[in-house]
Amino acid sequence: MSVAFVGAGPGQADLITQRGAARLREAEVVLFDSLADPALRDLAPQARWIDVGKRGLRGVPHASTGQATINALLVKHALSGARVVRLKGGDPSVFGRLEEELEALTAAGVACEVVPGVTAATAAAAAALRPLTRRGSGRSVSLTTAMTHDVGLRAGRHADTEVFYMAGRQLAALSRSLQAAGWAGTAPALVVSRAGWPDEVVSEHAVADLASAAVLHAGRPTVVTIGAGALAVGTKAPVTAPLAPPARLDRRRKIVD
Ligand code: SAH
Repeated sequence: MSVAFVGAGPGQADLITQRGAARLREAEVVLFDSLADPALRDLAPQARWIDVGKRGLRGVPHASTGQATINALLVKHALSGARVVRLKGGDPSVFGRLEEELEALTAAGVACEVVPGVTAATAAAAAALRPLTRRGSGRSVSLTTAMTHDVGLRAGRHADTEVFYMAGRQLAALSRSLQAAGWAGTAPALVVSRAGWPDEVVSEHAVADLASAAVLHAGRPTVVTIGAGALAVGTKAPVTAPLAPPARLDRRRKIVD
């Protein structure tokens, strides 16, 4: 009686870890979110796959009911004795509602394991060939969600590099909020959508004109990296230096327009 939380990675199926793949091969029930690559099904054709992403739970009145339903499904399948995998996009511990699900399972006496995955922040750094940490200038990284139910988007300046998840629809607000928090309008901003997929898109901006990235990345899972980790390798300028106007990069590090 156990549940393995498995990070699927941010993109294509081969970004899952070997351990995550092994858990899938042993699974009898897989509860998955919409972000995971459908090709992962090939690792567990024997399992019952249950879509608990937003689309899978269509008709559920609001998010909290959705989460309660997922918790109940997890507990139900685990208590039935099935080997259950809870497959999550990226890393399960990063903006993945892991806390709620672990709590529900632990309360029901179900043993849990978490298999880490590649998170969107590191996949975005890989896509742009820009290390998240930099010797000397980039010694700290902060991961922030741009989505909150209670307060609005709240950006800060907590680290040399700030990575914002779920920010794609709020780029203008993020730009304003970052400047209010003390980031220079000229500080570097990197926007990456669908990192880890063949159609990933990387674009670079300055904080003040982040909103101009909206069209390019519309409707795609997007992370925004600000500060030291957003600078192109070899750029010696401090993080407040002016950047070139927005440019789109292709996957092989060239600026294409
Ligand atoms: N647990 C996931 C994050 C889930 S929250 C992880 O570790 O990556 C969902 C948000 O993650 C999206 O709104 C987006 O900001 C980011 N995200 C997920 N997959 C992404 C991808 N392939 N490229 C860019 N951002 C992604």
